[in-house]
Amino acid sequence: MTVRVVGIVVAAVVVGGLGLLASCRQNATSAANLETEEVAMVEKAGADGARGAEDKVVKSEEQWKRELKPEQYCVLREKGTERPFAGKHWDNKKAGTYVCAACGNPLFESGAKYDSGSGWPSFYEPVKKSSVAHAEDNSLRMKRTEVLCRRCESHLGHVFDDGPEPTGQRYCINSAALEFEPKDSPDTQPAERKGENSELSGQNSE
Ligand code: FE
Repeated sequence: MTVRVVGIVVAAVVVGGLGLLASCRQNATSAANLETEEVAMVEKAGADGARGAEDKVVKSEEQWKRELKPEQYCVLREKGTERPFAGKHWDNKKAGTYVCAACGNPLFESGAKYDSGSGWPSFYEPVKKSSVAHAEDNSLRMKRTEVLCRRCESHLGHVFDDGPEPTGQRYCINSAALEFEPKDSPDTQPAERKGENSELSGQNSE
């Protein structure tokens, strides 16, 4: 166990040390090729209930850049990696749902979150298998599996086979790719919940 944790931390430092900006410059071209249309649109998949049928969010890179914070754009659209132990969600232990910071798609529940020791938010499974998509990633001289939001195809992080039971998987996700929506708590008064969700989210995230 100790060896595995040390390995994760070493990997975290190596990957994290590459820095956000370097990662973003490296991937800027491929991200820019994804979309060239200026107008944002929502494509509705077939209404026949077929597997994977859901609203797709498609926007131009220019529009994503206008709508997202720089650190979010770097991770989500340019496949950047934030530094470990630096994001706003890695140590969040509150109950709630993590949604895509780009399109709001529910991605991970707090019940599947665990402390991997990596410094990035880690989950053993997504909300639904269809919530995310996977892609082969051979960058940085490593063979990894990239995790993307299935709804808007934004980059979230990577998934590894060294996670805990029951799945044995470790979804290693960038905080910048996620927004946290706290679950209603008995400690929270209804009046407070109604108007202060965004503030609660901020408090939970730091
Ligand atoms: Fe998304």
